[in-house]
Amino acid sequence: MNKKQKLNHVSIETKVVSENASSNDPYGATSMPIYQSATFQQPSATTFGEYDYSRSGNPTRDALQNQVALLENSPGARCFAFSTGMAAIAAVMRLAQVGDEIIVNVDSYGGAYRLMANIAPRCGIKVHYIDMASKTGPAKVQAAITPATRLVMIESPTNPKQHICDIAALSAICHTNKHAVGTLLSVDNTMMSPILCRPLEIGADVVIHSATKFLGGHSDTMAGVVTVRDKREKDGKTLAESVYFYQNAEGGGLAPFDCWLVLRGMKTMAIRVERQQQSALQIAHWLQACPEITEVMYAGLPDHSDHDIHIKQCSGGGAVVCFLTGNVALSEHIVTATRLFKITVSFGNVNSLISIPGLMSHASIPDDVKAQRGFPDDLVRISVGIEDVKDLIMDLQSAVNSFVSQSSTPSESSAAIAP
Ligand SMILES: *Cc1c(COP(=O)(O)O)cnc(C)c1O
Repeated sequence: MNKKQKLNHVSIETKVVSENASSNDPYGATSMPIYQSATFQQPSATTFGEYDYSRSGNPTRDALQNQVALLENSPGARCFAFSTGMAAIAAVMRLAQVGDEIIVNVDSYGGAYRLMANIAPRCGIKVHYIDMASKTGPAKVQAAITPATRLVMIESPTNPKQHICDIAALSAICHTNKHAVGTLLSVDNTMMSPILCRPLEIGADVVIHSATKFLGGHSDTMAGVVTVRDKREKDGKTLAESVYFYQNAEGGGLAPFDCWLVLRGMKTMAIRVERQQQSALQIAHWLQACPEITEVMYAGLPDHSDHDIHIKQCSGGGAVVCFLTGNVALSEHIVTATRLFKITVSFGNVNSLISIPGLMSHASIPDDVKAQRGFPDDLVRISVGIEDVKDLIMDLQSAVNSFVSQSSTPSESSAAIAP
């Protein structure tokens, strides 16, 4: 039905809307249909159709996987969609086997930390935690790689502390180190989305997204995607064949309706992320100028210590801004008193969100590890949505003001609340 050729040369803002339908739908549907079917009829007992069972393959899941692979912009790349971001990370962990080692960045997402600390050892995998951020990170990885190192796993910027890892430098170490036979660099790119950063373009082998965040964008579903470069390994299999094997064998593939929700969300991803990022930068500047805020962590700020590395690999700082107040009570007050910022874990939603990661999304990290990582309880994370940025700044301002007036003149403020 659709005889038009795929467009590879157009920009990502165009790709997110141009490829989002079935190419052989008999009715020419312009939105990918939801193939809500567990099984598919076969032509005969001995001839097989393209699909047989939705755990193994489903047209709506394929549409999502093809769309994400297209956005990652690496020839021959293939994507696999899973039930959550964590299921996607777990599938990547499966690329390591008994006796292999994984090097993980110390400042990793709480759920990734829990998986590596508790599940990887049960699979006979040894995990090393190394601070891979900044200009000093690559040399530390170089020193830590052994012939058993199967995976080097990073996020950049890290969530929430916004430490930056140099993707190109780390991938060069994984691929040229004399010990590193078959070492893969995996980048969890959830914080950036494919709109702002495409790690396969700059040397990574594997890119992971929690599609629950920017890809979906509406907080209405959970999903995770793994995209791998076109690479054949020493066991003769391609990376894509290995990841597909685990998707099918372990059954974590994303269900058709959720695939459709992510496909639908992705159509507006470029315009959402662009707007969110613009507002985030304005809010970061406002926070820097606010006397009650002691430190702003945002990779998009020119005075971020690794802004130069970040801007080499990403086109902007994204939508997540973190800050410290030096006062846990003030941080908790801001989180509670803002009206437009919903108190939730997660980020990347169309609504603005606010949280204290140390108490919420990263609570799965043990206290001693948090202390070691320098994870303060006054750290507030905001995820900037698509609202008018003037309203968002006013909301933050009045939350700060209400704390200041409350603590400086307690009798007046309580009188104002209860006249
Ligand atoms: C949210 C998140 C995950 C986990 O994804 P889920 O969809 O919640 O399972 C992994 N990595 C990062 C960086 C995240 O922010």
